[in-house]
Amino acid sequence: MDFMNSFEERSSYPEVILCKFGEVILKGNNRQNFESGLVKELRRRASPFGNFKIYFKQSTIYVEPQNDFCDMDGMYAAAKKVFGIVAVNRAAVCDKNMDAIKECAAKYLPLKLAGKRTFKVDARRSDKKFPLTSPEISRDIGGVILSTVRGIKVDVKNPDVTVTVEVRDDFAYIRAGQEPGAGGLPLRSAGRGLLLLSGGIDSPVAGCMMAKRGMEIEALHFESFPYTSERAREKVLQLAQEMCEFCARIHVHVISLTHIQEELRDKCEEDYFTILLRIFMMRLAERCALEYKCGALITGESLGQVASQTLAAIGVTDSVVNIPVFRPCIGLDKNEIINYARHYGTFDTSILPFEDCCTVFTPKHPKTQPKIELVMKELEKVDFDGLLEEAYASMYTETKKVFENYK
Ligand code: ATP
Ligand code: MG
Repeated sequence: MDFMNSFEERSSYPEVILCKFGEVILKGNNRQNFESGLVKELRRRASPFGNFKIYFKQSTIYVEPQNDFCDMDGMYAAAKKVFGIVAVNRAAVCDKNMDAIKECAAKYLPLKLAGKRTFKVDARRSDKKFPLTSPEISRDIGGVILSTVRGIKVDVKNPDVTVTVEVRDDFAYIRAGQEPGAGGLPLRSAGRGLLLLSGGIDSPVAGCMMAKRGMEIEALHFESFPYTSERAREKVLQLAQEMCEFCARIHVHVISLTHIQEELRDKCEEDYFTILLRIFMMRLAERCALEYKCGALITGESLGQVASQTLAAIGVTDSVVNIPVFRPCIGLDKNEIINYARHYGTFDTSILPFEDCCTVFTPKHPKTQPKIELVMKELEKVDFDGLLEEAYASMYTETKKVFENYK
């Protein structure tokens, strides 16, 4: 019978997930694109969690389970990783009359408020014909809470939790608190970018940061087999997989730099090795970006972090391509990047100790102030175009998705 009771309670006050998006998005011509983009993305993300009705109304996206088999926890966790949503919450739904709202509050809130010391009620009516004003609703629901939740007190200035009652067009919604969403702009609302993805900490963060601004992320990884191992490649693919929690789907292109690196080692001055290799990487990336319709390259560079990331070195690598290069980590300290890596869930994999092609044949004294003329002179010692062609021909692609059936 206990089971029947809890079933009764659940079905009489079904929970929904409400997703709010930022005000920025509500302005301007792009509003409708953003709304439909977000709804579509949430629908795609919902498929492993059961049958949900997902729609947009009154600057909120409603995610409504259609039966008791829906995995609400899974859906809620997924919604928190959808870019474009600034806040998510779970709310109980009831009819729009004060008796129903009070009854719902009395049944729904005690569990949600257990262990909290203080609360306040914030009531909102988008339906201005509702007979009670917002302060009246707050007062009534506050009374219900005080009489049903043991030991809790009102604190309007600094409450442990804010209970929100929203009287909307069709129903009333009651919730206790809300959590931040992933923020930013919806995926695919800002074009496509090609991320140069290494196995390090920085580049996965750079990719997630640009995805947050609405870019669809495509990735390019350079390997140098047998100097880099199978496991190093697996690590990078694993990173791409982890990024998919936020980026949803990433095509990872892999190009071999082995022959280029051997040629540079054999024919060029060691001190120029790093910068020369980066020139090859940028040119190959530009070509890949053109083929896969990416409007920008993205790297994890941070100013001054290593020899190839001085202003002069960045100047040289930028000058060899005709496509914008986004470096969202450029002004971040390592510990800030690490915090982001933890947030995006890539840190633990990033610190696994596998070699990267950039650490193969590293010079003892890499040029930190390379002069473009001297760099170009070094480049003349190898068959630049031939090597590019050969490396590009080695490219193959693997696709990672947040879950297998993501479309
Ligand atoms: P990360 O932590 O992202 O590896 P890093 O501090 O190790 O960065 P570098 O090795 O100089 O710095 O690389 C700078 C950027 O160049 C990386 O953030 C990445 O965007 C790109 N890059 C480096 N190695 C590779 C690689 N093997 N494949 C693709 N891109 C790479
Ligand atoms: Mg690296």
